[in-house]
Order: sequence, then structure tokens, then C-alpha cells
Amino acid sequence: MAELAPYAARADASRGRRIAEPAPEGRSEFQRDRDRIVHSTAFRRLEYKTQVFVNHEGDLFRTRLTHSIEVAQIARSIARNLALNEDLVESIALAHDLGHTPFGHSGQDALNECMRDFGGFEHNLQSLRVVDVLEQRYGGFDGLNLCFETREGIIKHCSLTNARKLGDVGERFLLKRQPSLEAQIANFADEIAYNNHDIDDGLRSGLITLKQISETGVFARHLASVKREYPDLQERRLIHETVRRMINTLVTDLTGESDRRILARRPADLEAVRSGEALISFSDEIKREQRELQSFLRKNLYKHYRVQRMSNKAKRIVRELFSAFLDDPLLLPPEFQARAAEDTPRAIADYVAGMTDRYAIKEYRRIFTVDIS
Ligand code: MG
Repeated sequence: MAELAPYAARADASRGRRIAEPAPEGRSEFQRDRDRIVHSTAFRRLEYKTQVFVNHEGDLFRTRLTHSIEVAQIARSIARNLALNEDLVESIALAHDLGHTPFGHSGQDALNECMRDFGGFEHNLQSLRVVDVLEQRYGGFDGLNLCFETREGIIKHCSLTNARKLGDVGERFLLKRQPSLEAQIANFADEIAYNNHDIDDGLRSGLITLKQISETGVFARHLASVKREYPDLQERRLIHETVRRMINTLVTDLTGESDRRILARRPADLEAVRSGEALISFSDEIKREQRELQSFLRKNLYKHYRVQRMSNKAKRIVRELFSAFLDDPLLLPPEFQARAAEDTPRAIADYVAGMTDRYAIKEYRRIFTVDIS
């Protein structure tokens, strides 16, 4: 790796793992985190979990697995250009969605409602729970026993009530401090990835049209530049070329603006990063364009009646599974019954959140469908 900036996170200066382990050989601490994440069960399940579309609706749509890989790739480019720690942003990006429920945002909303009286459900807290507790694969500890810096990066936002329960990684919310620049980058890379991929998937599914999205300034501007350069491009390639340029513009803008802010502040080290204001940022112009794009997607894609029908079904599956297990915890598989002895609603939330889209549908049928043959 190229030389790191003085304010980058360093694997050899990590605040360490919850349970001390001998230093890894042939790889850094953050590379070991990445490897543990990639080998986890929760990571493999991301292949069958979705963002907006339900997994079985088509083979071409993004899943949370391809989304996480895209976030990692975008985040690494930005980190490299700012002389920050590429291995750490990669670990954070690959882990950031591990706690997501089946059926994207609708699944998360439904589970949060179910858990309202039992401490709530929040997917980035759940991602931390996956890497701290729920993965069961190592002899010496529960979870993946990741470094503080990776765990801190997973918690994007968090209420003060939850922050108090989180210990070391909750501190910064209570003290109003910043996470590492690497964590800030992973956060923006997530936003860059999902906005653009939702446009791409939205167009591919036919839920939004090229004409509609050309109402947004940013799409229209890039589309026009592609058409000028390639007047006869067939529509799919036109869209790819436009989205590609949009991602590129966002990455370039974020890198440039962040670089300017870092140069203006010149943090001496990671500690100075933590005690100042957030330094990773888009320029004001791009912020405005991103807001316009997001409100377009909300109105035309996320609230599209066909997406609403899907998410309504998804919510019903999550709600009904949750209440069936709460009424009779003996319906839970044995490992979750053992957890339920301590905290029944939380054990059910863990079980439901871990399900892939297709597993949740199957489980719903197994529990509610009478099939006597
Ligand atoms: Mg994400």
C-alpha cells in the first residue's frame, strides 16, 4: 500500500479487538477483519437479500451482496486517492449491510415496528450485533472479534439511548466526535452506490422511464453529454454510460472537496480527525443535485405502486412471522430457542433479520400454509 497520510487509520495503531489475539501473519489487522467478514455466514446471505426489489423478481437486479462489493470498490478508490487506509474502508463497506433484514427497507420498518416495545430494531446496530455476537464460527469467541475501527465504521448513526448501551463504539455519539475518515468515506460510498444503482435497476425494471428521470438536472446533464459524444447509442448502453459518468462525477467531487477540507484543517493525526468536524463531504452544488435525485427516486421509484405492493407483502410476512414466534417461541429453531430463554423478542428479531428473502417466504409458507398430502 502507498504511504498513508498522518491522519489515516493505521492497522498497527488499532485500538484492538474485544478479545486480544496474536497479531496476524502475512496480512494486516484490517485485512484479517475483511477476510473474516467475507467468510461469514451473514455475508453469504447478502446474495439473497435485496434493497428495493425482491430477490426472485429478476436475476439482473442488485442484491445486497453486489451492492456491498460496489460500495467497497467505490470506497477503496476514494481512500486510495486521499492516502487513507484502503483495507479499513473495504472491511467497513463489506460489513455495513450484514444486519439487514430480508426485503430491504420494508423488512426493516416492519421489524422495527414489531420491536417497538422491546428496544426497537435498527439495521446498522444489527450489523454490529452480527459481527460481535451472532456469527458462531471461532473457538475462542462469539462473533468475528473485529477491530474497534471496523466496528466503529459499521455504526453510521445511532440514538443516544442506544449509544449508551454500545460501550466503546457508542462513545463518539455521546461525546459528539467523528469516526475515522475511512468510516466517513464508507458512508458516502454507500450513498453513491445505492442512488445510482437504484436508477439503473429502476430503469431496467421499467418502473421509471428515461424521459421521467431526465427531469432531474444531474441525469439530464450527463445524458446530454453522452448523446453528444455517441448520438446513435442503443438505450441500455446510453443508460450505463450515463450512470457510469454520474458515479465518476460523485467520486471525483467527493475526493476533491474532502481533499480541500483536509488541507484547510491539516489534522495532525487520527485523534485530530475525531475531535474536529466531519471532513469527508460533497461540494454544495453536488449536495443539491443529490437531494434532487433522492427526492425523484422517493417519489417515482420507492413509492411506485408496484414497489408498494411488494413492500406491503414483505411487511406482512415479517409481521406475521414475528407474532407467530412471539405467541409460541417453541416454533423457533433450537439455537434461537436457547437465545429466547434470555430475551424472547430479541431472539426472534435476530432470527427474522438473518433470513434471506426466499427463506422468509419459505418459512412463512411452512408456518401458515396447511399442506396435507
Ligand atoms: Mg448499503
